[in-house]
Amino acid sequence: MKSTTRLINCDSFSQDEEISQLKTINPPIFRGSTVLFDSFEDLTLASAGEYKGITYGTDRLPTQRLFEEAIRELEGGALTRTFPSGISAIINTLLALTECGDHILLCDNAYGPTARFCTEILTKYNIQTTFVPPASGREIETYIQNNTKLIFLESPGSNTFEIQDIPAITALAKKREIVTVLDNTWATPLYLDAFALGIDVSIQSVTKYISGHSDVLMGTATTNQKYAEKLEQFYRILEIYTPEEDCYTALRGLRTLPLRLRQHEQSALEIARWLESLAIIEHVIHPALPSHPQHHIWKRDFSGSSGIFAFVFNQEYEQEKLAGFVNSLQLFGIGYSWGGFKSLITVGKYNRSQKSEYSGKTIVRLNIGLEEPVDLIKDLESGFELLR
Ligand SMILES: *Cc1c(COP(=O)(O)O)cnc(C)c1O
Repeated sequence: MKSTTRLINCDSFSQDEEISQLKTINPPIFRGSTVLFDSFEDLTLASAGEYKGITYGTDRLPTQRLFEEAIRELEGGALTRTFPSGISAIINTLLALTECGDHILLCDNAYGPTARFCTEILTKYNIQTTFVPPASGREIETYIQNNTKLIFLESPGSNTFEIQDIPAITALAKKREIVTVLDNTWATPLYLDAFALGIDVSIQSVTKYISGHSDVLMGTATTNQKYAEKLEQFYRILEIYTPEEDCYTALRGLRTLPLRLRQHEQSALEIARWLESLAIIEHVIHPALPSHPQHHIWKRDFSGSSGIFAFVFNQEYEQEKLAGFVNSLQLFGIGYSWGGFKSLITVGKYNRSQKSEYSGKTIVRLNIGLEEPVDLIKDLESGFELLR
């Protein structure tokens, strides 16, 4: 055999009994487009759709399957599928569960790109979206039309953290055969049991707390039994692919999720309470504080809070002053996304289609990382000095 051919065929590991039996604590990362069949007979079965094993790189390689099973179990759902980002999980869930002519309800405080997908893309397929108030409950009924097929919730919602009355909404959705989808990224499955509250599909931006280290973009959608087949089929036909390396990294993050989340929760609460005591601040928007407008619902439905919340100053500062404050911070990175070990800050105004108490107000959002709260407080305190 020529050396070139020998190089192509140096796969002795695949026959090595010892290697195939080797047990590391973490699973191996499989990289592959082609999956080799043992025989012509297996190939024939695969072509007929009857092969029992994995047939191709997009047929969900083992590390992905392992991660999906871990999330499925944690969520308590029937089926989980992973996506190459959180927004991809949202977009594909919406596409899988709607048809031309449908109408959907979307809470007004949903993640911006979710709303944008509904208004800019779903409309192309004659799927119309109505925005409902960010703290909706039973009164969501008044927005339901004959062709309403899906209700999309995010609780607490992005940036303004209003909470929806999920059980009230799922109860009336069930009566009308309307599918309910929840973006459950803020609480993770640890702090909100979506299925116990009647939700049909729970979505996670794995990018946030589950991966936890700001180095992965990934998402999951988990369904109950009723919608499992629909999502499974859609996923299989689209051959959506999530890199195995990312599944591996996310699975590693998942192991420490409870510990990290508990720390994020404690630190964020400590800082939120401190902020609430300052004269410079009008409102701290944190669901676990009794001052939050839907605190009673949070207390009823959630078993914990995470590390991201917001506040509003007691006056509107000029851009220059705000810039001075934000740029002065030493420990808070200026950037999107959250759920990682590093504290972050974003500042913005969020226009809602419905009237909101935060209309026109500058919202400062803090992602509290894993630093010591005392240091973060010192950092914020020196920033506030520039505003006083
Ligand atoms: C970040 C985020 C997403 C999207 O996740 P990506 O992985 O960044 O696409 C979806 N929902 C919420 C609530 C988020 O904060």
